[in-house]
Amino acid sequence: MLTRRVTFRLYPTRSQQDILHYWCKLHCSLYNAAVYNRKTQYQKFGHSVSYFEQQNCLPAFKEVWTEYKPLGSHALQATLKRVDFAFTRFFKGLGGYPKFKASRHYSGWTYPDKQSWKAHTTGVNGSLELANLGSIAMRGKARTWGTPTTCTVLCRNGKWYASITVQCEPTRETGSGAVGIDLGCKDVITLSTGEKIAKPDFIKEGQQKVKAASQRLRRKRAPNRNKKIKASRRWRKARQQVSKLQRKVACQRENWLHQTTSSIVSSNSLVAGEQLNVKGMTRKGKKRKKQKAGLNRSILEVGFGTIGDLLTYKQSEAGGFYVESPTKILKPTQRCAKCWELTPKTLTDRVHVCSNPACQHTEDRDINAAQVNLIWTRGKELASSVVESSSSTSCGSMKQLGALRRQKLAVQRSNGE
Ligand SMILES: [Zn+2]
Repeated sequence: MLTRRVTFRLYPTRSQQDILHYWCKLHCSLYNAAVYNRKTQYQKFGHSVSYFEQQNCLPAFKEVWTEYKPLGSHALQATLKRVDFAFTRFFKGLGGYPKFKASRHYSGWTYPDKQSWKAHTTGVNGSLELANLGSIAMRGKARTWGTPTTCTVLCRNGKWYASITVQCEPTRETGSGAVGIDLGCKDVITLSTGEKIAKPDFIKEGQQKVKAASQRLRRKRAPNRNKKIKASRRWRKARQQVSKLQRKVACQRENWLHQTTSSIVSSNSLVAGEQLNVKGMTRKGKKRKKQKAGLNRSILEVGFGTIGDLLTYKQSEAGGFYVESPTKILKPTQRCAKCWELTPKTLTDRVHVCSNPACQHTEDRDINAAQVNLIWTRGKELASSVVESSSSTSCGSMKQLGALRRQKLAVQRSNGE
């Protein structure tokens, strides 16, 4: 059984919408209160508040603030868990100190189990029933439906969504082909067969629209707290326009990524890519700043990191493989697909001409790189076919790992007490 997330659009009535907004505000206040509690407890008494301390306070809290009662105790716990998560991230050095959140930026809340909500659907449309609120019409389609486990209600740009995780067994059809891919700026994906998938036009068009809309926004009266200037109604309207357009581009991009990766998986059960260090690649360039800036933008626009993630999970659904070659060792852009020699290149060299005088192999740079990836992966597969077959039970071994860790933790706990 695998976990998949399905997002449905909610269509609450006017009165339901008011309640949803009110509940969102309450959850936000709880979040802020929990952050404040941790902060002051530490500042005044040097005491670090744990999640369980806060959770145990909830029943007493609800006796005082009775408006929290209809929200469902597990949903409230999930909000405290968010605070705990934010602090854990901070302590590990992964994020900044948790901030107080404005209620208009607070996205929503989560039901961490099957309590207080029910999805009346078979994967296509239906309704979402929330305790103490009633049934809300819901639209959307799941690729594979299963047993719903958790539900997150969230508000984005004035629209409400229910993001439901389901336990299901997704399947996917795949062909017998094997293909190598290379990711680039101009042609986003180059296949080893020579096929090139260009960057879609809507990304550029959408960005131009966003740019124009944000220019319109800048001409309106923006809020300024220090000068006590309120935002004008036109400013608010223009800001809504900007975020709507941004959202649209993001959706289009996601849709395009899903379609392209699905079509690759549908005909190839082995896809050979390369390891990408997106963070390193998009770091500010030391030399050739302008060129690097252009590269950065196109990498981030397209979502290189996402392509690998999508291919990985889609191949695992289809029963195929997505293998990433070690870019730094293999150097697919410089290696010759025929004789395996290295030919140094800069970003501007678009054609691979082998420097080996006996070979002289000439091929498009990206196609050559994709072919090198494929050859390397095939060679690796032959060499380690035994390992590959045993690693197919990796799901089980991951579980065993988790069990081991839990055992260890239990031992530590008992020793500590
Ligand atoms: Zn060569």
